[in-house]
Amino acid sequence: RILLDNFSKSFGSTKVIENMNLEVAHGEMLALLGPSGCGKSTTLFAVCGIHRPTGGRILFGDRDVTDLPSQARNVGVVFQSYALYPHMTVAENIGFPLKVKGTASADIRKEVDSIAGLVQIGNLMGRRPSELSGGQQQRVALARALIRKPDVLLLDEPLANLDAKLRLEMRSEIRRIQRETGITAILVTHDQVEAMSMCDRIAIMKEGEIVQIATPAEMYNDPRTAFVAGFLGNPP
Ligand code: ATP
Ligand code: MG
Repeated sequence: RILLDNFSKSFGSTKVIENMNLEVAHGEMLALLGPSGCGKSTTLFAVCGIHRPTGGRILFGDRDVTDLPSQARNVGVVFQSYALYPHMTVAENIGFPLKVKGTASADIRKEVDSIAGLVQIGNLMGRRPSELSGGQQQRVALARALIRKPDVLLLDEPLANLDAKLRLEMRSEIRRIQRETGITAILVTHDQVEAMSMCDRIAIMKEGEIVQIATPAEMYNDPRTAFVAGFLGNPP
């Protein structure tokens, strides 16, 4: 599980998150859903280790990772822009995190093949990122995020750059991959349909606070505030 225990984050005198408590169960996929500027990415960056919290703790299982840098946390991350390495092939992109770790080439090849099968891009291994569609690039980014078998998968608006049809396809693909690997995941999005269709539970954020956390069905049928109802498009 991932636990945020009284997590706070300020930038200078600007308080973005104050005393947030959140638990994501082992194997669960949770959406952080809310309007632009509410603090979704700030929260995710703290979980992945890009931002140091200004207060509180972050735990993976029973391990306190608050003071650990990103590399030491064993997280897989996919952001809106996939940031694939343009000069490397697909196989080299996916294997890169293992190469950095010093894994032997033969072992890298084996792992890359296995993960490429999971995300279904086995036929693209020799291509460069510029020769791929948006959805294919997205699969490569996912494969690269998963190659080190992370404990946690963090996704920040991973579908925002895709056209409507691909977005639908990748919603179910990401969910399939999350289920098959059983990985604990957090998906940041401002798209309520995406959150509803992909996640076990949704945490709705407003101005740095979680205003309701529930399963999609509970949230839809019993929104606790007008803000939640309005955001889900189901006003009372
Ligand atoms: P979006 O949906 O637009 O991506 P978000 O919910 O991810 O929004 P955050 O990026 O977490 O929002 O930002 C939350 C608030 O924190 C915003 O008001 C933003 O201006 C502020 N903020 C984020 N990063 C920094 C920073 N490095 N320095 C100062 N303020 C920041
Ligand atoms: Mg953001």
